[in-house]
Amino acid sequence: MKVLLFGGAGYIGTHVALAFQKRGDTVGIYDNFSSGLRDNIIPGSVVYEGDILNKDQLKAALADGWDAVVHLAAFKAAGESMTRPEKYSLNNITGSLNLITECVSAGVKGFVLSSSAAIYGEPTYLPIDEEHPKNPENYYGYTKLAIERHLEWYDKLKDLRFAALRYFNAAGYDSNGDMMGLENSPANLIPVVMEAAVGKRDTLQIFGDDYDTKDGTGVRDYVHVTDLAEGHVMAVDYILANDESITVNLGSESGLSVLEILQESRKVSGREIPANFVGRRAGDPAKLVATSKKANDILGWYPKYSSLESIIKSTWDVYKKNFNL
Ligand code: UDP
Repeated sequence: MKVLLFGGAGYIGTHVALAFQKRGDTVGIYDNFSSGLRDNIIPGSVVYEGDILNKDQLKAALADGWDAVVHLAAFKAAGESMTRPEKYSLNNITGSLNLITECVSAGVKGFVLSSSAAIYGEPTYLPIDEEHPKNPENYYGYTKLAIERHLEWYDKLKDLRFAALRYFNAAGYDSNGDMMGLENSPANLIPVVMEAAVGKRDTLQIFGDDYDTKDGTGVRDYVHVTDLAEGHVMAVDYILANDESITVNLGSESGLSVLEILQESRKVSGREIPANFVGRRAGDPAKLVATSKKANDILGWYPKYSSLESIIKSTWDVYKKNFNL
């Protein structure tokens, strides 16, 4: 099969590329390298330097004939989306609409969207299933929801089959060390903790200590990126084989607080990791935990690498090597 990954040089994209390549598929990587890294490109991939805002570049890459597309080319910092929404509307909405339009013109049959738990907003019940009300608390989540809705229309109107994969918190690194590239200026918790561990930043700022959670800090469902990557392969196979679109959560089903992540990172790294409490970050729900039952039932997807220990250890191994520790 030929699969073209938009945003394929990013953190999640490279792990997805690895999963498709491991089973012998032809993998294309389309990236503008604004945050993706050239070092992350797996040898043997077809590489296109391009932007999803540039229709000519999109047309040229899609003209090479691809069975399926995975769309991971999005900004993902929920906090930033609240202060710079226009950045998110341009790339995550306008760019995605361009891409979907060009995929339909090029005759692509299957489209996988990196969606997010952020579409649900503050939960009204837990664990969150796919039917849970969608009231994003941050603009980033809104952009993902908007594209999901668009895909539902295009499924009906244009016969474009899609899989919307609602990731919970992607974390960890390939455990064989096949993906070593670090994100530049990360805003997500675990890479920030790691940067504080290696001394790249002075301290971890913990956003809020007064949430209604087990220890007052935010609780999230961290799912290993290798498990997520496997979910993409299963999703592409499913939508093409069944000629049917799907929307599923991909989460580990366990809720971990900021303090639990910090504590495990201190244990695994043996480093002090300075941290201090600051105010809440706008747009942050208190607690997000998934049920992935639908992905279990439809795709046969079960996380294998998503224990706290495996997530922190695989991440620390990569930071340690990059910082020669
Ligand atoms: N968080 C934090 N300090 C940071 C980054 C994140 O305390 O520097 C908290 C954040 O408030 C949330 C959790 O860590 O409770 C996960 O945040 P992240 O940005 O990784 O993912 P999100 O769930 O917002 O997409």
